[in-house]
Amino acid sequence: MVFALAILLGCDIFDSASYAKFARDDRLMFPEGTMHLADMKTLECECPACRLHTLESLTTLPDKERMITLAKHNLYVSKKEIDRAKRAMQEGTLWELVETRCRSHPSLLDGLRRLREHRKYLERFEPLSREGAMFYTGPESLNRPCFQRYEERYFERYSQPSNKILVGFEDAERPYSRTYASLMAKLSGVADAHFLVMSPFGPVPIELDEVYPIAQSLFPKIKDREMEEHIKELMERFSHCQQYGMCLLYDGEGTLEMLSSLSGEKSDFDIDVAKVQAVADYQFGKGAAKALFDGKLQIIKSKNTDKIRNVLVDGQHVVSMRAPDGLFTLRPAGAKKLHGTFPSPRMRVIVNADSAEFNKEGKNVFAGFVIDCDPELIPMDEALVVNEADELIAIGRAILVRDEMLAVKKGLVVKVREAVA
Ligand SMILES: [Zn+2]
Repeated sequence: MVFALAILLGCDIFDSASYAKFARDDRLMFPEGTMHLADMKTLECECPACRLHTLESLTTLPDKERMITLAKHNLYVSKKEIDRAKRAMQEGTLWELVETRCRSHPSLLDGLRRLREHRKYLERFEPLSREGAMFYTGPESLNRPCFQRYEERYFERYSQPSNKILVGFEDAERPYSRTYASLMAKLSGVADAHFLVMSPFGPVPIELDEVYPIAQSLFPKIKDREMEEHIKELMERFSHCQQYGMCLLYDGEGTLEMLSSLSGEKSDFDIDVAKVQAVADYQFGKGAAKALFDGKLQIIKSKNTDKIRNVLVDGQHVVSMRAPDGLFTLRPAGAKKLHGTFPSPRMRVIVNADSAEFNKEGKNVFAGFVIDCDPELIPMDEALVVNEADELIAIGRAILVRDEMLAVKKGLVVKVREAVA
């Protein structure tokens, strides 16, 4: 039951004699904990060691044979659990598995809760996004690095628009912008309004609602106290830094009537423009939107899904928005703009001359060829591959963080997407 947690914390080799010691004491290991043979009421294990046994036939085996059978069982179960964790890693659901396993024993739950103190450290290694949805399994889920990241980036990188009134909505089905689309249209017709959802991740401006993990998460409809407390704390923090003329909670038709009698203004809030700007700063850091979109902005949307696909500035394709995680993929024109705006080593992976020759042709960056890199880069981040003279050579996706890039001796460190001529 401890494997998943150990693997989450970075362990990848296990050495233990427990399987044999437990077998000698007539104890069987399971992902939910160990059981003494004498305390078991049935044997429902399907492992190759137990398959042909009933509880009775197993109990009545001669001592040595029984010990060997139980030792094999313990090894089979351990192997299976490690394989289970490997699958969770590949599917991006290791946190969910750990949170489930840690409910098997109060001490493990303590271990899981202790991780809260290390949220910032864990966040450094957390990929920018994962495949598939994030499941909330209980209050401990709030300790996950993805909550920490959203909170930090929202408060540090987000700039609110100039609308005078903020209307707050309750957490609802995602994506919020679809759920609240008709309501927002009505409210925008009677007031200079901007919109925000009080989500379990904290305040979510409507234009950030498709960014991972906001839209890609599932929460129970009935909130636990910790989650309510968490939302309250973050909304309080928000209230100290917001600059709207007025903030109010949407409370049914009354809100609409009140706003129409109050202002009579209309909102000029353009969610598409706000979205590309907010996502750029959220993903690449404050100032990125200004650097990327300074010029004649053209937003191209998918005919099928109505989602933003490509963003052009003065006719040049600068970024594409990815449908699965709502974040950007940089195109050469966009990479050049960020490279020209952000000083080294920001967003950069600096490679030596040998590597640069290959990367120029669109080939990947491998360990051993990296001279240095931005310490803020996280796995799955867009990375600017540059040579020692800080000339932009290629764009790719970082696989590792800086310390890992410099420490590993072999393997892929940046998956190059295209060379920049
Ligand atoms: Zn078994």
